[in-house]
Formats: sequence, C-alpha cells, structure tokens
Amino acid sequence: MESESGGLLKAKAIGLFSGGLDSIIAVKILQDQGLHVEGLAFETPFFGSAAARKSAEAIDMPLRVIDFTEDHLAMLKAPRYGYGKNMNPCIDCHALMLEKAGLLMAGEGWDFLFTGEVLGQRPKSQTGQSLRLVAKLSGYDGYILRPLSALLLPETIPEMDGRVDRQRLLDIQGRSRKRQIMLAEKYAIKSYSSPGGGCLLTDPVFSHRLKDLFSACKNPSIRDIELLKVGRHLRINEDFKIVVGRNKIENDIIEGLATAEDSLVDIPDVPSPIVMVPGCGDEETLRQAAEVCAFYSDAPKDVAVEAVVRRGGQKTSLMAMAAERDYVRTLMIERPSRAEGRG
Ligand code: SF4
Repeated sequence: MESESGGLLKAKAIGLFSGGLDSIIAVKILQDQGLHVEGLAFETPFFGSAAARKSAEAIDMPLRVIDFTEDHLAMLKAPRYGYGKNMNPCIDCHALMLEKAGLLMAGEGWDFLFTGEVLGQRPKSQTGQSLRLVAKLSGYDGYILRPLSALLLPETIPEMDGRVDRQRLLDIQGRSRKRQIMLAEKYAIKSYSSPGGGCLLTDPVFSHRLKDLFSACKNPSIRDIELLKVGRHLRINEDFKIVVGRNKIENDIIEGLATAEDSLVDIPDVPSPIVMVPGCGDEETLRQAAEVCAFYSDAPKDVAVEAVVRRGGQKTSLMAMAAERDYVRTLMIERPSRAEGRG
C-alpha cells in the first residue's frame, strides 16, 4: 500500500514479546522497515514478564503487560491440544496469547500482530502445522506475521496489502542459533533472556506437583498454585497433602501463604520446619504432619516430642514420633518417576 508521496504507508504492529533474542530480532526487522512497533507480554503465576520488561527497556520499545491468569488457568486444566513434555500446553497457550493480542489489535486499530517464532525451532509447537493451527485457533489467521521465518510461511495480509515488504523478511528455520547470533551483532543487541526460559510449566518437578493438585482439587486457587513453588510436597491421602519448609526463608513464605483455614505444624523446642496442611486437615492428617515435621526437625528420632498445631489463631498440641525415612519418601509428590524425569 502506497501513500500519496509514493512511499510505503507507515503501519503499526503489536507483537508477543518475551524478551528473548528472537523476539528482539522480530522487532528490529519491522523497525528497519519503518514500522511503529510495540510489545505485549503476558503474566500468570507460571511465568512473568521481567525478561520482557528488561529487554523492552534496553531497546527502548513500549511494552504492554497483561495478566491473563484466569483465562490461562481455565485453559490449562484441559488444553485442547494437550501438554508438551511436562504440563506446558504450548499450542493452546500461544493461541490464547494471540487471541488476546488480536482483540487488542482489533479494538485499538493496530494493523497486524507479530511474533519471534522460528519455524522448526521447537519440535511440537513450532512446526509449520502448529504455527498454522495456532494462528487459526487465535481467530486472527492472516494477521500474524513471523518476521524471522516469514519467507517459509504463507503470505500474510500485511504483506499482501503492502504494509510490510516481504522481500525484507527472513527465512530462518531450525534449532541452530547461528543466524540469530549474527543478527544480534548486526543490531548491536547485547543482552537478552535465554530462549524458552522462565516458564514453570516446562519444569518436571513443578509439573508433577501441578498434576497432583489438579487431580486432588477441581478449582485450585492462586494461593494453591503459589504454594507449589515452595517447600517439599507430600501427599498424605486423597484429600490432604502437606507442605514442608526446607529453610527459614521457605518457612516464612509458607506462613505468609497460610489462611485461617490452614493448619501449621511445628516442633517448638528444637529447630523445626513449618509444615502446612492446606485446608486444615483431619486428625489423622495432622498426626502424620506432626510425624513428618519431627522427622525433618532436629528432635530426637526415638522419642515422642510435642508438636504444636496452629489454625485461625488457635493452638493445640500433640505428641508425635518422627516418621520413618522410607515412609516419608513414599509420600513425596515431587519425585517424578525415572520415565517422567526423562520425558
Ligand atoms: S513455554 Fe509456557 S509460556 Fe511458553 S507457550 Fe509454553 S506454556 Fe506458554
């Protein structure tokens, strides 16, 4: 599309921006064509926007941050296209981000969307088929430009209508980072976050805990998810698990996350972890929580010790013998099986 003076009309694009090298290069390629570009980063309890904020500041690009926890969590429980190696539903997650970005584009009059995705860089979520699927699922097929691999992908609407010069887009594909490193030098990009880093849903241990939470609770709260990030997690029975602090910092975090509904157990006479029983716990669960607490505390292992249970401002106590090491190991949620650990 040409302006009256014969030059390309200056288009404006908003894109998913992680702060990684590929997303910075995508921005630079479009800025090279004189386009106005802004970034969009998303936040949930599973990933934040710190890297995006840092990189956006470094390249002096406006960045919008959207917390879409509620929609993301609803999708995460049953992603239409399933999970990756761990609990990462990358296809559905990307589609949801692009759907949100598309709504913004349509509502605010942006010309098109862009991402820093590279064809074939990730085995499941960045195949040609997945990129097409994500675009279709988002509802904005045709408006999503991937500047790094555009020459290998079908022409998009902004290329067709002349807002973007297709000849100046790239044909990068695969896992090699050589061309991106060269482009980083060309554009003098000095710092960027590592590719794919920072999403807890790709972490095997966190994923194992999350899977356990979903199987025990239909509607976990944000607090329940925050708890997954701290301590050791042990499942006592179908209804209750316990969370054991591993050091003073974790004990403080666990106390800080406790509500009036939760029980907190410790052994006051010796250095001891804080053990939380989310959702108060029945008598048997509290007894086991006290035994596990005694096991991880400095209390002698061959005599019963006094454990204190706090809940909603009330205190009770019970006598508990430290649980056996082998028994404690059987309760651990975060121990992925060997197969899962490799997966
Ligand atoms: S790695 Fe995490 S943030 Fe990225 S697409 Fe997958 S689930 Fe979403």
